[in-house]
Amino acid sequence: MNGSNTESEAGLVAEDAQKLNSFFSTFGGRNKSLLLLDYDGTLAAFRVNRFTSKPWAGVRELLHAIQRQDRSHIAVITGRPAIEILPMLGLEKAVEVWGLHGAERICEDGHRELEQISEQAREHIASLHEQLRRDSLGGLLEAKPNAAVMHWRGASAEKARRIEERTLDLFQRYLQFEGFRLLKFEAGVELRVGRDKGGAVEAIMNAQAGNGPVAYLGDDLTDESAFRAVNACARPHMSVLVKAKRRESAAEIWLRPPAELRAFLKQWLEAGNQA
Ligand SMILES: [Mg+2]
Repeated sequence: MNGSNTESEAGLVAEDAQKLNSFFSTFGGRNKSLLLLDYDGTLAAFRVNRFTSKPWAGVRELLHAIQRQDRSHIAVITGRPAIEILPMLGLEKAVEVWGLHGAERICEDGHRELEQISEQAREHIASLHEQLRRDSLGGLLEAKPNAAVMHWRGASAEKARRIEERTLDLFQRYLQFEGFRLLKFEAGVELRVGRDKGGAVEAIMNAQAGNGPVAYLGDDLTDESAFRAVNACARPHMSVLVKAKRRESAAEIWLRPPAELRAFLKQWLEAGNQA
C-alpha cells in the first residue's frame, strides 16, 4: 500500500492487505488474470426494486479501465437472469455473464447457453411456480427456468419470519427429488436444480487457458461455493468477501464496500499496468 491517505488503507486488516499484496505480485505473466464478480451487494448496493441497482460510484469507470487495459478476463456471476446485468453495469464492451447462480451463461459475443435440466425437474419447477403465482405466501416470487425464488427484502422482521417459515415448509417437500437444493440468501430462499456458482467458477477457469491469477468477489451465502472453488484451484488466487460487516466465510479476505472495493480494483489495474 502506498501513502497514508489512500483508500486502500481505509481500514483493511493488515493481514488482509499483506495477502492482497502477495496476490497482486503474481500478476505479470503471459496469461490473463480472471476477475470474477458477483453483482448485487458486491458491485452495487441492494435495492428493493432490483432493476434500479446501479454500480457504486467509480466502479463502472474502474471496470472499464481494466477492460481497456486488456490484461484481464472479467465475468459476472449472479443469481439473477444473466440478461439483466449488462444494461445495469453499463460498460462499453460486454463481459461474460453467468446467471441463475450458474445455470445460464451469456458469452461476450451474446451467445446464450442454458444448462439442461430433466423434463421431470422442469415439471416440478413449473408446478411450483403455478402454485406460488396463486398464493405467494406474502413474499415476492421470482420464477426462473431452473428455480423458484422467494424474496422478503423490505418486510418487517415478523412478516419476514412468517414468509420464510411458510416457504421452507413448501420448498422442503421438493428436496426428495433428484438434484433439488435449497439456497438460502439474505432476505430470501431459492429452491433450485443444477450448477451452482462454484460450478460456474470451475467452468470459467477451465475455459480460460493457462494459470493466470484468479479472484472471486461476492457478498452472500450463495457466493460461498464460488469462494471454495477459487480456494481449491492451482492458480494464484484470492477469494474476497465484500460486505459492510464481516461474517463467517470461506473467503480469504474481507473488504468493505464501496471504498475498499474501489481500492481493490485500482490495485488490480496498477498490477496489470506493471505486467
Ligand atoms: Mg450478491
